[in-house]
Amino acid sequence: MEHHSYMVGVRRHLHRNPEVSFYEFDTTEFICRELEKMGLKPERPLETGCVALIEGSKQGKTIALRADIDALAMEEEGEIKAEFTSQKTGAAHCCGHDAHTANLLGAARILCDLKDQIEGRVVLVFQPAEEKLPGGARMITRSGILQKYGVDEIYGLHTSPGYTPGEVAVKPGAFMACTVEFEAELIGKGGHAAAPHHSVDPVVMAAQAVTAFQTVVSRSTDPNEPAVLTVGKIEGGSAHNIIPERVKLKGTVRAFSMETAREIKKRMEAILEGVAVAAGGSYTFHFDEGYPAVVNDENCTTRLIQVAHELLGEEQVITMKNPLMAGEDFAFYQQEFPGAFFFLGSGSDEADSRWSWHHPRYNVDEKALITGACMLAGLILIRPI
Ligand SMILES: [Zn+2]
Ligand SMILES: [Zn+2]
Repeated sequence: MEHHSYMVGVRRHLHRNPEVSFYEFDTTEFICRELEKMGLKPERPLETGCVALIEGSKQGKTIALRADIDALAMEEEGEIKAEFTSQKTGAAHCCGHDAHTANLLGAARILCDLKDQIEGRVVLVFQPAEEKLPGGARMITRSGILQKYGVDEIYGLHTSPGYTPGEVAVKPGAFMACTVEFEAELIGKGGHAAAPHHSVDPVVMAAQAVTAFQTVVSRSTDPNEPAVLTVGKIEGGSAHNIIPERVKLKGTVRAFSMETAREIKKRMEAILEGVAVAAGGSYTFHFDEGYPAVVNDENCTTRLIQVAHELLGEEQVITMKNPLMAGEDFAFYQQEFPGAFFFLGSGSDEADSRWSWHHPRYNVDEKALITGACMLAGLILIRPI
């Protein structure tokens, strides 16, 4: 209970003082101070965020536990959060990373108290910039600090409004999608709307491209592998009687492997080229690979489920049928180390916390912090079967 009120205090402090991706300076100072109070020596491999090591008393594996610490560039809403609402304009913890940080600090306190029971070592990763490319996880992984500690496995969690406090949800294999952002421009020749024969109309080219894009997932990718291609924004034109010079298409591709995403890219490029050649225009195409897919290691997932069963009871542990098409930069760790990511139920009517991630009213039922800290500490303290 003492740990719970500590975590609630931390979460509310961070919630009041959110900092957006790559600017988590005060947040990092705060976390470092808390870790130092526990007798730990945080290291800072990047400008923001930190990593700390807890040495156990016996030999064993080195397990990394990760929390992301950044807030979103947005304004928040919701009366229930009035007591600890964001004090900053243009920044708010509407993805629960305040709770993730509080959870990992809570777990760290439990683990420091029970150090003599730890077999192996624990690497606490307070990662910046989950919300923004290139992704803090990619930068931490590239910094080499986790390799230096010889991390054997890594675990992480995300609060989820879809499950209630006390519940966790997990699944082996594909868990969250890889996320790609694309931008295409169709370039024609502007002119008078009444004289299309003297123009090359990029509006028509864009319409053809958007329609043909619909065949990419339906005709060119493996039906057993989920994928999405969405054009989310069309920009072009200025008036009803002008054929514009160019039209921009912006959108996202989601898949469960970068190979599939790259196949989709090839098909999109072929369509753009075909449309442009047929119309007598041209095109540009940028395809920015964002985060890879979160794919949970079988053994790590089995371990996670074992710990969850022991701590929470079988009925509280949900095995998800399908992965989510949303992305997470935790995927970068999994490219280097076996790991598993899970959802921590945080949705309830009392806490008005059933709103989706990134909604201005997004909130976390703070009861979830107990489950989260127990799970993280349990992964270290509970003996494998
Ligand atoms: Zn988010
Ligand atoms: Zn998030």
